Amino acid sequence: MYAGYMTLLPVLIELQATHDYLRTIERDLTALPPDLAALHSQIKAQDKRLGELERGITEGTAQVGKLTKELELAKRLEEHARKHLKTVDQKVKYAAAIREVDERERQRHGLERPLKELEARLVAAAKEQTEIKARRIDAQTQFDELHQVFMSEHENQVTARGVLGKKRKMLESQMTPAEVTRFGRLLSQRMGRAVVKVEGGICTGCRVRLRSPFLLQLQEAKGPLGCESCQRIVYIA
Ligand SMILES: [Zn+2]
Repeated sequence: MYAGYMTLLPVLIELQATHDYLRTIERDLTALPPDLAALHSQIKAQDKRLGELERGITEGTAQVGKLTKELELAKRLEEHARKHLKTVDQKVKYAAAIREVDERERQRHGLERPLKELEARLVAAAKEQTEIKARRIDAQTQFDELHQVFMSEHENQVTARGVLGKKRKMLESQMTPAEVTRFGRLLSQRMGRAVVKVEGGICTGCRVRLRSPFLLQLQEAKGPLGCESCQRIVYIA
C-alpha cells in the first residue's frame, strides 16, 4: 500500500531522520579502537599480498608450462642432431653436424636456466602464500574476538541499528519503488541529505534563496518538490 502524494512528505522526512541516526551509529561502530584498526589494516595488507601471489603463481605456472613444452622440443631436436652426427662420415658435413649439435645444446641450456629459476620462484611464492594464509587466520581470529568485545560494548548502538533498519524498511514499503530509488540516489549524490527544510526562503541543503513563484508552489504543493538548485526534496517546516 503506497502513501498518496499528500502523505508522502512525512514519510520522506521520517526516512531522512532514520538515515541520519543510522549514519551516526554506523560511524560509532566503524570507529575501531587502535588495536582493532591495526589488525584490520594488517588483514587488508595480507589480502593484497595474497592477491599478488595468486596472480604471480597463475602467470608463473602458465609460463612454466610454455617453457617445458619448448624444452621438450629443444631436447628432441638436440637428440636428432646427435643421431645425425653419428651417421655423417664426410669431413665437411661432419663439421656442420657438430655445429648443429652445439647450437641445439645451447638452445636447450637457454631454456633450462630460466625454467629452473622460474620453478624456484614458484616454490618460494607458494611458501610465502602458505605462511601469509596462516598469519591471516591468526589475525582474523584475534580481530573477531576483539571485535565481539567492541560490539558488546556498543550493544545499544547495535540494537538501535537493528530497530532503525526495520523502520527504514517499513517507511520504504510506504513508497513506490521509483520513489525509493529517487530517494537513494539523492542520498548518495547529496552527501546523505535527500530531504531538507526551507528556512527564510532559503534551501538549507544548498543555501540558495528560492524564487518566490517556487515558494508559492511549495506552499500549495500536494506532494514533494525538489529544490531548483540542488534537487533535494524541500519542505517548509
Ligand atoms: Zn537546494
